[in-house]
Amino acid sequence: MSNKYSRRDFIKTGIGVSAAAVLSSGKNLIGTQRNVGEMCVVASGNGLRATEKAMELLKQEKDPLDAVIAGVNIVEDDPEDRSVGYGGLPNEEGVVELDSSVMHGPTHNGGAVASLRNIKNPSKVAKLVMERTDHALLVGEGALRFAKAHGFKEENLLTDRARERWLSRKERLSDRDFWFPPRPEEAEGEFASFFEFHGTINCCAIDAHANLAGVTTTSGFFFKIPGRVGDSPIIGAGLFVDNDVGAAGSTGRGEANILNCGSFLVVNFMGMGSSPEEACLKALKKIAEKTKCQPHLLNDEGRPRFGLQFYAINKKGEFGGASMWSGGQFAVHDGKENKLRPCAYLFKRPDKSKKNS
Ligand code: ASP
Repeated sequence: MSNKYSRRDFIKTGIGVSAAAVLSSGKNLIGTQRNVGEMCVVASGNGLRATEKAMELLKQEKDPLDAVIAGVNIVEDDPEDRSVGYGGLPNEEGVVELDSSVMHGPTHNGGAVASLRNIKNPSKVAKLVMERTDHALLVGEGALRFAKAHGFKEENLLTDRARERWLSRKERLSDRDFWFPPRPEEAEGEFASFFEFHGTINCCAIDAHANLAGVTTTSGFFFKIPGRVGDSPIIGAGLFVDNDVGAAGSTGRGEANILNCGSFLVVNFMGMGSSPEEACLKALKKIAEKTKCQPHLLNDEGRPRFGLQFYAINKKGEFGGASMWSGGQFAVHDGKENKLRPCAYLFKRPDKSKKNS
């Protein structure tokens, strides 16, 4: 997509005016002050190559959505990243199923695919769903046929490394899966293996015209039930962009995010005046509170025993990242330097060394 949305168009449509009104009413902006026209790209901690690439394209005046998709394609293509695209860890039947969504701020349009097999760049297919259909989400067999109709080639996404990991999990299989018996409270052993392995890449950007876009792409949970769809392809959960306000995306336990419309919440909090970091923390707090109704997801202290992270940019180009538990990082290219920064956090991870001493 070319850079169809000039600054003049942007102001003409009134988008810029309402954004200015939203931001000037905000009292809580604590992020680095940035000048309009400064570009920024944020991504999850596995996204340093994505932020680098996306910034390079933004500097060439490319559309922000094209920029972030080109960024995450590097990670989708990389067999070493076991959470995304080619080399992603498979479902419980040993099949890699990918989820992705994209959202383009200037047109407030989006597209997504879920449970897509055999195509290593679901983010590119998600963009085609946005551009070449009147739908927002295609899943499974239909998504695959759509991709093939657009010339994508099917390939086996299961690398030997991922297959061996799956085989060893299968061989150790006990009651640790994602299935519940009719009375979960009576079951022995642990349920979900979401602690074992999962991951995703989210990447959001703001260009020199203050236009926003984002993408989220993943292979979802390792050993998931076939057909399980996480938050990544759900607009409002794993990704949300409002060109008047900001963009946000997420990684971590998708179910918690879907049930709370996490990325939408973050953007909404930014719209009410919170800084990106504060907005991420507020969304996490809300999700932690709501998790109290699901005891199997709580630790002994009544806190969520899962990871969840949000990354956000507001209309000013200020950015932030926060995670449920301390120790997280996110990637930021602020136009000058590209580096990992620590995420703010809701709960401090217990210090294991102290417990053992
Ligand atoms: N959010 C992803 C999902 O639920 C997993 C992850 O980011 O770790 O599919």
